[in-house]
Amino acid sequence: MKEICKVYKPEILACPICKSKLAYCYTISNKLVYFTSGKRMRIKNLGYKCPNCEDDTVYVSQTANKLCFKGYSYSVKVVATISLMKEQGRSRDYICDYLYNKGIEISDRNIGNLYAKFKEFENYNYLEKIQNAYQNMMDKYGQIRLSIDSVKVFDEYIIMVYDYFTSELLALKRFKVDNEEGLRTFFGEFLNNELKLTVLTTIRKEAVIHPILRELCPKNTKFIPYVKF
Ligand SMILES: [Zn+2]
Repeated sequence: MKEICKVYKPEILACPICKSKLAYCYTISNKLVYFTSGKRMRIKNLGYKCPNCEDDTVYVSQTANKLCFKGYSYSVKVVATISLMKEQGRSRDYICDYLYNKGIEISDRNIGNLYAKFKEFENYNYLEKIQNAYQNMMDKYGQIRLSIDSVKVFDEYIIMVYDYFTSELLALKRFKVDNEEGLRTFFGEFLNNELKLTVLTTIRKEAVIHPILRELCPKNTKFIPYVKF
């Protein structure tokens, strides 16, 4: 199969501290990633630095970061599909077969590993992680930036919250698609009008999640959609 390569650079190319134009430094990650379509694509995430500040921050693409499940070569949707099927009581063989029919190769053992990792993220003390991240961002940049992704698998939304600057995954939560109240409560735990939130990279306008985020974030928050995949 011919390899498809997608190259991403930071969505914002101005330094958040001094506004200088960021300059390419090196490739942060270069990975072959499996998607639920069965396609396998190379995702390159290019790192940029501020030539003026000379600090240690390397800015990356939020889109490239969220395309791949942290530390693995599968998309978040593939991992979520595996995890939800495990919880429906499907055997590893069944899941392997299901994925194989979609063109995705995965071993028995990897299914176990991915499921364990997914549960580990899901069980994070996310409020503590988010509060710590806010503190670090305020100390270092005087502002908060987040990246919030949403993936629909079967009848659930998988919501992932990332630190914009470090790319760290801060929260992974699941909601039934009709549980709008649950979503609102969750976002309300860490988003409010008082925050010094300047940038939110997220999905393109989407019927349920986007209006909730708009409502909770400060009015002048800049919403930046992920690059269309
Ligand atoms: Zn700078």
